[in-house]
Amino acid sequence: MKARLTVLGSGTSMGVPTIGCDCAVCHSADPHDRRTRPSVLLEYNGKFVLIDSTPDFREQAIREGIRQLDAVLYTHTHADHILGIDDLRPLSFRHKPNKLPLYAKPEAAEFLRNMFRYIFDANYKFGGLPLVELRPIDGPVELFGATFEPVTVIHGENEIYGFRVGSAAYLTDHSEVPKASLEKLRGLDILFLDALRRTPHPTHSTVDNSLRIVEELKPKRAFFTHICHDLPHEATNATLPENVRLSYDGMKLEFEI
Ligand SMILES: [Zn+2]
Ligand SMILES: [Zn+2]
Ligand SMILES: [Zn+2]
Repeated sequence: MKARLTVLGSGTSMGVPTIGCDCAVCHSADPHDRRTRPSVLLEYNGKFVLIDSTPDFREQAIREGIRQLDAVLYTHTHADHILGIDDLRPLSFRHKPNKLPLYAKPEAAEFLRNMFRYIFDANYKFGGLPLVELRPIDGPVELFGATFEPVTVIHGENEIYGFRVGSAAYLTDHSEVPKASLEKLRGLDILFLDALRRTPHPTHSTVDNSLRIVEELKPKRAFFTHICHDLPHEATNATLPENVRLSYDGMKLEFEI
């Protein structure tokens, strides 16, 4: 089955440009250097699956003309991956009388329930809330004829999820990819990896570290995401192997599920 992946956002938690920053990348005229918070949209079988709802989701959805959303998968509950949840509202209404399902690791689902109590413990009678329901992930998630396999990665002190679906995998925040997870990432056409910057960071991967993962797993194509303002798009791409590119907002890729 053919699938299409759209990069909604390729930036780190603060986005690029970063508020108040005077660096060259934050002032770049290249649209590839404008990075909203990290998220991708998958389209297949007439359905649309979102991975993470960022604080930039509204802007991303308008930019890409999103009119339908059938499920949301969460990698983890850091602010840059969840704060757009309220903007799921107009797309959730389409599911009446049902609700738009949100999939997350059990502890992440619990966190979302507490963080957004006004949504999930609603006794507010006048509408105006996203019609969403949490579904804890307890194994591979079957969605509309495709299987999303959760892939555990280490993000600082947390174990969070990336997802593999068919010949593509999306790992957005990781300081380490455990051996058992690497085994789930063989034979890929497309592999997304965290590459925050070149200098080490306690909770994120670097360009060199992610290049080592690419070398080990040998996907056909690899794309870096969660990128900060240290990495100018053009100049950084010029240093990367031919099958490895920085992703950018609005990038679209076709693959097989
Ligand atoms: Zn993040
Ligand atoms: Zn900057
Ligand atoms: Zn994070």
